[in-house]
Amino acid sequence: MPHQPPPSENPARLESFRSEVVERVRAGGNVWKLPRGELRLPRVFGFCRGVERALVMLAEALAGHAAGGGRVVLLGQIIHNPWVNDYFQRQGVRILSGTEMEDLESFLGPDDAAVVPAFGVRPDVERRLQAIGCRRIDTTCGNVRRLWQWVERAAADGYGVMIFGRTRHDETIVTRSRLGEAGGHYVIVESIAQVETFCRILAGAAGGDRDEAFRKAFAGAATNAASLAPFARLAQVSQTTMLYDDTLAVRDRLGQAFAPDAGPDRLLFEPTVCRATQSRQIAAVELCQSGLDLTVVVGGFGSSNTRHLYELAGEFSPAVFIEQADSIRSAAQIRTIDPATETPVLREGWLPRRENLRVGVLAGASCPEVVVGQVLERLAALLA
Ligand code: SF4
Repeated sequence: MPHQPPPSENPARLESFRSEVVERVRAGGNVWKLPRGELRLPRVFGFCRGVERALVMLAEALAGHAAGGGRVVLLGQIIHNPWVNDYFQRQGVRILSGTEMEDLESFLGPDDAAVVPAFGVRPDVERRLQAIGCRRIDTTCGNVRRLWQWVERAAADGYGVMIFGRTRHDETIVTRSRLGEAGGHYVIVESIAQVETFCRILAGAAGGDRDEAFRKAFAGAATNAASLAPFARLAQVSQTTMLYDDTLAVRDRLGQAFAPDAGPDRLLFEPTVCRATQSRQIAAVELCQSGLDLTVVVGGFGSSNTRHLYELAGEFSPAVFIEQADSIRSAAQIRTIDPATETPVLREGWLPRRENLRVGVLAGASCPEVVVGQVLERLAALLA
């Protein structure tokens, strides 16, 4: 019996995000057979508990606070999915952009409700909300909060922190600002190659002055340290949505780098990739291993966990990453993302021209089932 995702914490509140098509395909063993092929779903996909909780809290704020005449203002995107953010905007939620967030006082008053997204907000934003005196609805996921607590403790114990994540991702921006505020030092590595660079500099294998090499390799937002000294004792964490296998590779590489003279306490790891991310990655690999001609990955282009599913899928078959059903313009043309430039592009010839096509559909933890259902319907029309 295939394992199904956990039930919603409040199904009634998220009714608009559900899909009868997805339910039908699930009931059919996660396969939709069609005249020219079949569509396959993994056994776990879509909303995680953290996302569901955030959306339920936002929906409740809208129902309660807005009914009393106050505005509901979202401090950035609630999650990285355009369909979901558009949905709440249509319901009257004001979503502040990055620039508007720097000028909070112009957009929020004491009668408003400010909603903190699932990735949390920087401590300075929290202080400003307090000064404004508005109601605060905090949807920060418990996994993200645990990550903050762990790095703050590590910093207090004298460790420099390596964050394996995306420098510009909201979660990592908030984590590093909390760490900086707690007096800690961080270095952010986005890839295994950057971990390798860090280890080579640490070992003095990069040549020249180690601190100078460090400053050159990790400039700007990647670190708040002026030298390697804070990382003599290193604590390593990962953004909650990274590829789990990559986090193991980071751990192995650091283990080698510190091995020669590592005392028991010189290197600490905390497995911070959340279970929802892991279970979706495991299910995605299982589906990809079932033998697919094409994988369609659905979710926001800004969604880290969806992006990693796309990377995974590409290791097994041709893959396309789309945001929603209307990204599929026709059997010939699709709106996807260019992995090299990370910009949206129109791609031709994405659908293999052959009979009995096996197409897998993956969706990240921030993708609502209703969008997956619309994508399935559009693909089904092409395989009819
Ligand atoms: S992906 Fe993980 S960390 Fe992010 S909201 Fe979901 S459960 Fe929380």
